[in-house]
Formats: sequence, structure tokens, C-alpha cells
Amino acid sequence: MNERSQPIEKVCVIGAGTMGTGIAAQVANAGLEILLLDVAGSDENPNEAAERGIERIFKSDPPLLMSPENVGRITAGNIRDDLSKAGNCDWIVEAIIEQLDVKRELYRDLVTHLKPGALVSSNTSTIPISLLMEDMPDQLKQNFCITHFFNPVRYMRLLEIAKGPDTSRECVDRLDRFCDRELGKGVVHCADTPGFLANRVGVFALQAVINETINSKLTVEEADAVFGRPMGMPKTGAFGLYDLIGLDLMADVVRSMRSILPPGDAFHPLGEENALINRQIELGFTGNKGKGGFYAQIDGKPMSLDLATGEWKPRNREIPKVAAEAESQGIEVFVEGNDRLSKFAWRVLANILTYSASLVPEVTSSPQDIDDAMKLGYNWTQGPFEMMDAIGSERLLAKLEEDNNLIPPFLSDSSGNAFYMVEDGVLQVRHFDGKYRPVFLPPGATRFHMLRRTLEPVFENNSASLFELEDDIRLVEFHSKANALDAGSMEVVSKAAENPGKGIIIHNDGAHFSAGVNLHVFLEMIEAERWEKMDQFLIDFQQAVAAMRSCNVPVVGAPSGLALGGGYEVLAHCDCIVAHANIVMGLVEATVGLVPAGGGVKETYLRAFGRTGDWGEAAWHTFNQIGYSKTATSPELAAKLGYFNPDRDREVMNRDRLLSEAVKALNEIKVDYRPKSVAEFELAGTEVYNEMDKFLFKGRDQGKFLDHDVTVAQAVAWIVTGGQEGSAKVTESEMFARERQAFLKLARTNETKARIESLLSKGVPLRN
Ligand code: NAD
Repeated sequence: MNERSQPIEKVCVIGAGTMGTGIAAQVANAGLEILLLDVAGSDENPNEAAERGIERIFKSDPPLLMSPENVGRITAGNIRDDLSKAGNCDWIVEAIIEQLDVKRELYRDLVTHLKPGALVSSNTSTIPISLLMEDMPDQLKQNFCITHFFNPVRYMRLLEIAKGPDTSRECVDRLDRFCDRELGKGVVHCADTPGFLANRVGVFALQAVINETINSKLTVEEADAVFGRPMGMPKTGAFGLYDLIGLDLMADVVRSMRSILPPGDAFHPLGEENALINRQIELGFTGNKGKGGFYAQIDGKPMSLDLATGEWKPRNREIPKVAAEAESQGIEVFVEGNDRLSKFAWRVLANILTYSASLVPEVTSSPQDIDDAMKLGYNWTQGPFEMMDAIGSERLLAKLEEDNNLIPPFLSDSSGNAFYMVEDGVLQVRHFDGKYRPVFLPPGATRFHMLRRTLEPVFENNSASLFELEDDIRLVEFHSKANALDAGSMEVVSKAAENPGKGIIIHNDGAHFSAGVNLHVFLEMIEAERWEKMDQFLIDFQQAVAAMRSCNVPVVGAPSGLALGGGYEVLAHCDCIVAHANIVMGLVEATVGLVPAGGGVKETYLRAFGRTGDWGEAAWHTFNQIGYSKTATSPELAAKLGYFNPDRDREVMNRDRLLSEAVKALNEIKVDYRPKSVAEFELAGTEVYNEMDKFLFKGRDQGKFLDHDVTVAQAVAWIVTGGQEGSAKVTESEMFARERQAFLKLARTNETKARIESLLSKGVPLRN
């Protein structure tokens, strides 16, 4: 029997808690039917616990479901009455409480019902397979492994799979394939060692930051300012992440790591009970879900915990200079820095890096596994070995020796060689035996940040690069800070359109495809009243997307993360969008008092007309969609808003497969590609405008809209209806001009300026 002969079609998840509901929701997102079981409740409603789990899935925020209807694929049951149904499934995932005896009892009951070839896996974080499978029948042992998902399952890319001595190759291959392709996970195979890879390094790193912050007498803000973005780690920083996960849950995780790691492991001194954390938990400061944790709102004011006194003090949001420098220049800034924050950062970093290196070869033979685990499971932009390469092996070793750090053999043996290098056009990684081998990704998977190391850009600036891939395909990569679009980004789009080869793909591997145009640039122009310059920027943007759209080869956008505002406008001009399943798409300009002016209004209007055949209806759709800044959190939901066309665009569950799917789509479209003719439009007319106006003033009088909301929505209405000038046939370039005119008028208002300032300084747009 090979992996293809027995597809996974029916799945049962046992345990309807945090993880079980997350896994069930993701299986439902993949289009499969799921049986979700929990303990039996009362006789009146034995399925109560699982039903409550389904209810939580439905209400989750951010949503675990890609579309609310997917909940209909999940059936509730209980382990007393429904184990025989579970036995009928192809894969049974156990995600019940972390207690060995309870898990073992469940397996003993389950095993009598299993159909031949059924796979069983546990989501355990800490219990070794040897204990879970002790004295279990061989049939189960062969078909059993650990599938360690991360919370929230829909959004965390990592899945660690650990096999036992008896687990069959087929079991692992079938689960690997299913979880990669159908559930969209980046699978990292781990040895069955405590904490596997991501938590082993991730929890160590968090504890290292916390302990060293206390020892160095720094504030939580200072530590988080360094161990957030400047380190390529989530912007919450370590203390913020503790608050997000929950101090109580973290305390349990730390205790459990302490109990499972071997004596002598460097984790132990960092994982000791922390009296301040225990006190916070007792007082109900369990993190964001409680009254706060290290950060809290006290009497309505943002405060942070003083680690020395345990008192609250006003939160300091200032970014230390060295942190800002490191964010733009990289972690190397911390290595030689002589200020106290750099010294602190270096001590912690040295600890994390040497610990990671100490795990090779006992825990894994390839540093890539650890790097992948940290990038996919903890959202680090670089793994520890990539960080070491960024610092430079010789410099790193010299500095570690100078500071009397214990240097693990895998690091000391490096003799100044990088962990990653490109040879014969292939990215290679140095394994435990000192030999370089090509980095491993399953067939069809690509991570552009890896691939780009083997390519020379044909054109680049600070914001974007243009590459030539195989078969004369061009790839545009945005890589400005947070992928905010600026003149440089659009210059590269234009360059691609000038010489498009056999097709263009717009893709990047950043956290976000692009959250829109760089608002700092607009604010500077507003402050300097450079209206002509602003108009020219918009003209250049519009010309770039129009040139791309009208070039005589296909253009495919392959986004993940946020594709908002200008980011979406680039996609709207592609022939096909190959979107990751967690894409967030939409035109959100109205929230900052602006209208889309990169063709966003035009394209929304045109697409709505394509669906309805009626310019009046299309105008209302555009008015509502852009006026309310509607966004979609999946391709399914984007389809409902017209941002995504299921007949033409494609959805991909695994981010690592976006690029190969984009190439596939491009090659398919290429076969009989005809460049699109330039669309013609008809403005919907004064009557429609007046109705919209009436709707807005009524809404304002009812307190639904603020004055500036009305002004912005009127601008959208004017673009698509013609306002008091009435209906007329217009060209695409006239539509572009209308967008720019409306945009510039709004940009000159104080209210729009205040909204932009607020978004840039506080992270939230002002409601004015
Ligand atoms: P949880 O406490 O949220 O949920 C556990 C669920 O299991 C509860 O609904 C409980 O009623 C149910 N349950 C208990 N005994 C059962 C039985 N005999 N049969 C059926 N259902 C039973 O726990 P969780 O956080 O979802 O963790 C589940 C598993 O996943 C644990 O093994 C944990 O170590 C692991 N894990 C948790 C996380 C996390 O972030 N929470 C991450 C990775 C792995």
C-alpha cells in the first residue's frame, strides 16, 4: 500500500479544547468532514463539551474558519458513544489534556475500533512516544506518531512530526503529505526529544530574555524594544509575548520543560520559579486575557511592571536609539555595541545561539530544522544559524571566546565557515558532520528568501528587486520596511512591464505582501504641501499598474499576509491572483480619510459591473465596499466582496507552495494569452449620487457616520457616479484622473492629516 492508495478523507479530532478545536477548524477549512469528540456530558446532552468547542470555533477572533460555513463540516460527539465512528476515520488526532494515563486509556479504548491503516497521532507537547505507546498493540505503534501543532493552528505555519521506533515510514509520509498540502503546514521532522525543536529553543529564548532583564536591571520596555523587531522577532518582545500567551500558561510550560529536560541542560537555571510571575498570576494579572501581566491598563493608563519593586509605573513607549539602529541595520549592531542595551542584547543572544548550536547533532543533524522551526513556529525572520551567519562565524567565535562563553563543538568546529552557502546555484547548509547539503524543502515548496540567495537581481533599489527565474519568467519582490509601497517599489513594477519576458510574478516572502502605500511619504508631502509631487506619485503608481496589466504576457500576483490598499491595487491589475488561504485583502484607504487612487476604485467598479451588468448597482457596491473599508480574511470571503475571482484566481493552503502554483498558473494562462483590451466605463449619474448623499446624511444624523466619513464616502460616490455633472462614458485614464482628483482633495483636509498622523504615531486611525 503506498501513500497515494490511501488518502486521508475522514478525520476525527479527540479533545475539543484550544488545540483540538484549532485542528478541527483547519481540517474543515481544507474541505474535509470532521468528527470532534470530547468527554461525554450529561444524559440530556452527551455532546455538550464538543458542541461548546464548535461554538468557540465559530466565535473565534481572529477567525479559525476561513469561511463561517465551514463549521458545518464539524460534527460533535463524545468518546463514550462515538469511538466506533472514530475508528472509521483515516486519521485520528488526539488533543486531550496532557496526562499520560488519560491518553493511554483513550488509546486502549480506541484501538479496538480502528479500521486497518487508520493513522493515530497525539498533539502532546511533552510526553515521549515510548511512554504513550508502552504495551500498546503493534498495529497501533506502527501507525502512531506525534503531530505537534502550534496555537492558533490556522495561523501558525509550523507542524513538528516526531516518530517512534516502531512508526512506519508510510504513516509519517501520509501525514506529512496531508498536513503540508491540505492543511498548509510547514512540516519539520523532529526526534522525539523534550520540547521538540521550536519550544526547546523558543521557551529557552523567552526565559533567557526575562532572566537577563532582571539581572541587568533593565525595564520590560527596554528588553522588548530590543527582543522584538530589531532581532527579527515578533514586535511584542518577550514580555509582551508572555502577556499574549498568558503568564499562567507560560509558567506551566516552563515547569513542564524543567521536568522533561535532562539534568545539566542549560535551560534549568533559566527555568526556576519566578516569585514575581507567580505573584502576578495570583493577583489575576495572567496576561492579556486577565487584568494584564507585565503590561496593564491601571486606572485607564498604560503601565508596565517594575521588575525590581513589583510596582506599576507609566509605560515608556520611547524606542532606544540602538534598537532603532538595529532594526534598520541588523543584529550585528548589538555585537560590538558598548552601551548597556547592546551588552544586554549580546549576552542573551550569545546564550540563545550557543544553546541552539548545542542541540546539533543530539536533537537534529541539520541546523536548517532549527531555523525553520523558529521561523515557522515563533515567527522569527531569521533562525539562530542564519543569525550566526549574519554576524559572521569568525567574529562570533572571537566574541564568544572573549566573553568566556561555553562554545558547543558544532560551533567551534565551524572554523570560520558559514552555516549556509550557495554552491553551483544551490543553497546548501552545513550539517553536523561538517558536510554541506542542499537545504531541504519538499518538492514544489519554495521559500523565496532562500531562493533569492541563489539569484542575482536584474534590477533593484531599496524597496524592491526584479529577478529572472527559469523559462524567462520575471519576479518582482517588494522588500521595503513592512513592504510599504513607494516610488522605488513601483519603479520595479514598471521595469518588469518594460521587459516582461514570458510573464511576471509579483511575490515576496515577507510577513505581508504589502499593507499599502507608505503613509510616511504621504504625510511628508501633506506637511510640505507638495501637491504636485503627490499627484506625480499617484500618476507613476497608476502608470506602473496599467503598464503591467497591459503587457502582452500574463501577470500573476502571489500574495500572503496583508494585501491592503495599494498592495491590493497591484493585485487587482494582475491576470490571476494565487493567494495564500490566510490572505487579508481589501481597500482600507477610507480609514485614513483617503480613497484608493492606484486604480482601486476603478477596478472595484469594473468588477462589480462585470458581475451585475448594471453601472448603478456597481456604483453602490463600490461605494459601500470602499466607504466601509471592507476587508476579507480569506480568499472565500474575498470572493464575496469581489476582490478574488474563484473562476480565475487560485487559493493555496501552504505559503511555501505559492510560488510554484503561481508559475503553474502563469504557464497555463500563457498558452492562449490575449492582452486585455482597455476597459470603458460609464459613470452612474446624478440620481445615484444624490441617493448616496441622502444615505450618508441620514446615517450621519443617526450617529452612524462622522462628518469626515461622509466627506470620504462622497468622494467615492463622486468618482463612480460623476456627481452633479451626471452620467458619461469615460476611459480608464479618466477614471484614474478622477481617483487622483478625489484623493488630492481629501489629502488637503485637516481631518485626513489627523487620521494619518494618528495611525503612524499610535497605530490606530483617529475617528474624526
Ligand atoms: P485544553 O485543556 O484546552 O483541552 C483539552 C480538552 O480535552 C478538553 O476539552 C477536555 O475536556 C478534553 N478531554 C480531557 N480528557 C479527555 C478524554 N479522555 N477524552 C476526550 N476528551 C478529553 O488543552 P489544549 O491546550 O488543547 O492541549 C491539548 C493537547 O495539545 C495537550 O497534549 C497539550 O500538551 C498539547 N498542546 C497544547 C498547545 C497549546 O498552546 N495549548 C500547543 C501544542 C500542543
